[in-house]
Amino acid sequence: MKPKTKMIHAGIVGDEQTGAVSTPIYQVSTYKQESVGNFKGYEYSRTGNPTRHALEELIKDLEEGEAGFAFGSGMAAINSIMMMFNTGDHVVFTDDVYGGTYRLVSKVLNRLGLESTFVDTSNLENIENAIQDNTRAIYVETPTNPLLKVTDIDGASKIAKANDVLLIVDNTFNTPYWQTPITHGADIVLHSATKYIGGHSDVVAGLAVVNSKKLAEELHFIQNSAGAVLGPQDSWLLIRGIKTLGLRMEATESNTKQIAEFLDGHPAVTKIYYPGLKSHPGHELSKRQAGGFGGMISFDVGSEERADQVLSKVRYFTLAESLGAVESLISAPARMTHASIPKDRRDELGITDGLLRISVGIEDAEDLIEDLKQALEG
Ligand SMILES: *Cc1c(COP(=O)(O)O)cnc(C)c1O
Repeated sequence: MKPKTKMIHAGIVGDEQTGAVSTPIYQVSTYKQESVGNFKGYEYSRTGNPTRHALEELIKDLEEGEAGFAFGSGMAAINSIMMMFNTGDHVVFTDDVYGGTYRLVSKVLNRLGLESTFVDTSNLENIENAIQDNTRAIYVETPTNPLLKVTDIDGASKIAKANDVLLIVDNTFNTPYWQTPITHGADIVLHSATKYIGGHSDVVAGLAVVNSKKLAEELHFIQNSAGAVLGPQDSWLLIRGIKTLGLRMEATESNTKQIAEFLDGHPAVTKIYYPGLKSHPGHELSKRQAGGFGGMISFDVGSEERADQVLSKVRYFTLAESLGAVESLISAPARMTHASIPKDRRDELGITDGLLRISVGIEDAEDLIEDLKQALEG
């Protein structure tokens, strides 16, 4: 099956019983048992729900794993995965992981005794050096936010296997349409499905896929025990979103390339971060492990004043957090998503006051470029 066909035909399609082409929303909490313990696969909707199950089968197929799991948010997915570890276990993380992941690990899970080290995983040596006797996993986000650093998934997987630890990959930015980390040796893949997978800024959700029966049993045990499950309505919205994921990712890709070319030569732009540009340090690696470069561009306009000017003048780019939807969004990471990082550290990383991040939507590229042009020139 080719990728766009897969988005429509993978998983469980429609409803066997009625012939309905679209998966029904099973708005139900409990299921009739013929006699004690004799039921048709479902007993209680925290444990399993047919609509959620259809979504879980779909994401499992798309990520080429063994089992899929749907959670109430990306953070709920990440937290549930972390619940597989014990007090005193250690995990190596990408240093510029999503801010919420950093907060969960450094302000919540640390209280339960989970140890962590944050390193720049785009350099594999840093991962090797961070491995300890009690390390249980390597957790990689690639590409990262907002500087779009790329980590070699095959390389990280080799280190994980050599040290008998798990490799966990946050695949939110590239989606399974462009990147399937399990085929590059990852053990667990997760998503904030709030972003590209949902794709319409109308649902908060998380997904995870594991590559073995053992991990499937462990994560299902946590999902059922801790209960951070996705409801049937939201599961249905994700199934619907995935049907157009291929079309949306292709449209985004084309728009993003054109916008990056425009910004790259613009005199008001002092620096640009986009893996699709040859000048980006992760360009070649990105070409090897992903089918596309994604819809995120970060660029520096030199100062907070200039950034504010652009933010006040854009018409099609909505000033908002989040990413990956049909509409284009713009944000100022230093004052929004990354405000909790001290300024010295931000400047060191390149997250300056003049940095802007755009999530390119599927509007017409001409309009988006024209919009940025007038905003930069004003
Ligand atoms: C948004 C995001 C998350 C968190 O997901 P929520 O759905 O907001 O809980 C995790 N990782 C990445 C890369 C994200 O962009």
